[in-house]
Amino acid sequence: MSFKQPELPYALGALQPFLHEEQMNYHYNKHQAAYFAKLNTLLEGKPEASAPLTDVIVAAAAGPVFNNAAQAWNHDFFWNCMSPAGGGAPRGDMLEAIDRDFGGYDKFKQAFSEKAANLFGSGWAWLAVDKLGKLEIMALSNADTPLKHDRKPILTLDVWEHAYYIDYRNLRPKFIEGFWTKVNWDFAAKNLDGSTK
Ligand code: MN
Repeated sequence: MSFKQPELPYALGALQPFLHEEQMNYHYNKHQAAYFAKLNTLLEGKPEASAPLTDVIVAAAAGPVFNNAAQAWNHDFFWNCMSPAGGGAPRGDMLEAIDRDFGGYDKFKQAFSEKAANLFGSGWAWLAVDKLGKLEIMALSNADTPLKHDRKPILTLDVWEHAYYIDYRNLRPKFIEGFWTKVNWDFAAKNLDGSTK
């Protein structure tokens, strides 16, 4: 058994003008595909190969298995955090939780954008929720994920240079600004209410 890269939930060019087809093609078909390929090589013939990917991530010590498993999963989560029909503000319980924990959507957006812009080197900006239901923004390096910190991921933005360099070159803040035009709050809301696994 081996891990299979899930289909992208939309066409490669569907997030234009935020991300163009070439950018998405490299990111999905080269970068994420390589994490799956490497993970399958590392786990060939091992019992972890038939475990759920999130179990592999939580159980793995720091090293190549963790890095490739987490990068494989993080990207799948990230694709779902964007939608061709995305953008705009959250609603309902998602908005209420953001209001409660960040003092409003604009303040949240600013804080998340700043953490994403200021993350040094490669990594991911996350909105996550702890066991008590409190939201927090986490800027995590390399493959690190809230799953490793006893937090549930709600939303993420990949700020590795490979995520934006074709479309935005060195301008990470412009890429972050564009993310809000395609952000998928419906997916985030499902993560918060527990209707995604
Ligand atoms: Mn990436």
